[in-house]
Amino acid sequence: MPFVFDTTYARLPERFFARVQPTRVARPEVLAVNAALADLLHLTVDELTSPEGAEILAGNRLPPGADSIALAYAGHQFGGFVPQLGDGRAILLGEIVGRNGRRVDVQLKGPGRTPFSRGGDGRAALGPVLREYLVSEAMAALGVPTTRSLAAVATGERVYRETPLPGAVLTRVASSHIRVGTFQFFAARRDVEAVQTLTTYALDRHYPNAPRDKGPALTLLNCVIGAQAKLVAHWLSIGFVHGVMNTDNTSIAGETIDYGPCAFLDTYDSKRVFSSIDHGGRYAFSNQPRIAMWNLARLAETLLPIMHDDETKAVEMATELLETYPSRFEAEYATIMRKKLGFTQDREGDLAIAKGFLELLEESRVDFTTAFRRLADVADGAAPSHLGDLFRAPDSFLNWAAKWRSRLADEPVSSAERAATMRRVSPAFIPRNHRVEEMIAAAVEGDLKPFERLCNVLGKPYEDQPDAIDLTLPPGDEQWRYVTFCGT
Ligand code: AMP
Ligand code: MG
Repeated sequence: MPFVFDTTYARLPERFFARVQPTRVARPEVLAVNAALADLLHLTVDELTSPEGAEILAGNRLPPGADSIALAYAGHQFGGFVPQLGDGRAILLGEIVGRNGRRVDVQLKGPGRTPFSRGGDGRAALGPVLREYLVSEAMAALGVPTTRSLAAVATGERVYRETPLPGAVLTRVASSHIRVGTFQFFAARRDVEAVQTLTTYALDRHYPNAPRDKGPALTLLNCVIGAQAKLVAHWLSIGFVHGVMNTDNTSIAGETIDYGPCAFLDTYDSKRVFSSIDHGGRYAFSNQPRIAMWNLARLAETLLPIMHDDETKAVEMATELLETYPSRFEAEYATIMRKKLGFTQDREGDLAIAKGFLELLEESRVDFTTAFRRLADVADGAAPSHLGDLFRAPDSFLNWAAKWRSRLADEPVSSAERAATMRRVSPAFIPRNHRVEEMIAAAVEGDLKPFERLCNVLGKPYEDQPDAIDLTLPPGDEQWRYVTFCGT
């Protein structure tokens, strides 16, 4: 099996990880392979679905050249610091430089216990594996930075959560698995040398072109602030709720990582929470930009000792940089929201128009995705009632639409061009929660057709697909109280 590994993380000091072998499973069966991603990694579907491929993807056999490790990290979980987390149910096989020249981690998620497993079994259940596969690939197709999914295999074994469930292993591909929590792991141990090493490593790997004249720590912090601002703005523009934005789930590369109780908004509700244990709304939809800032402040703290010998000076420098985040976030957010509204030029007041629209959606509990898609139709000549009918008080929408139209009046593009631009940032298809749940229920019964259909349709989220209209529809009222549980 020609995995062409070129692994660098496993050559870092021993305290960065634990060398570990996956634990054998009974009957590996390949459920899904991502052909395009396989090709990018110099692999083929035939290789990955062969008996040998199945053994490798299940962790029963290591491919030649693999140097399998579980990474050490710490993290703030719902605001409380845990000094040691680490890959308790994930094993990194190695890194591959893809056809596009980009280096990625190839990791098995759910391959058995590691020294970081604490009380856990190191395993994953089929449902969460297929959810992560589907949603991460949908995010990639939506153009959002994300970890990817190369394969899902059933293990032929049960895992025990509240009830026995079929087990599975996901092969996750990421720009890296370095998290804010990785820095915290070493900072909590006052291991300044390791923080230094990790900073240089992360810069070389993720931000090699960033000018480093202000020193590695400020350079890295600046790059991560930029990447997170962009990422969270993107999430907000498509109604995505990560659900567990703990610092251990915050990627230094700026990718969406660790799909647990994540979900997309149907009805627009800025306070929407999906994690069953998030009682305070810490990770609610519209709180995500603020939480990203909080997580970045935790990263900054770990970097203080290598920023400046004088701690007061270091705190000043870090604070000054962190304070750039809100305006950088807002600039990213404004850029995407302008496109969603069909504006090509930057005008003051654009965000107020966006906010006005969102307030109307919230008031009338309108489906977020449908509303923006229909707004593109209206920009394209559809009758305003095509969208206005979704509101409790269609007049309030018509008032807003009048402002929107007058803002559009001096834009130099044709309505067809405008609508096309709008449709490139406002998807027709998102992984709707009720469809994802349906898909999982079918898969547990051995029927993968809904999974395959969703994967196909969500691979082209911005295209109208007339034979998949059912997948554009929000759930009926009885289904809308959707909660994902943390027992992933
Ligand atoms: P997560 O909620 O997936 O971000 O995981 C938080 C921490 O718990 C990480 O250190 C995981 O490795 C660990 N963890 C989660 N589930 C398991 C499991 N089934 N077995 C061992 N460790 C786990
Ligand atoms: Mg995690």
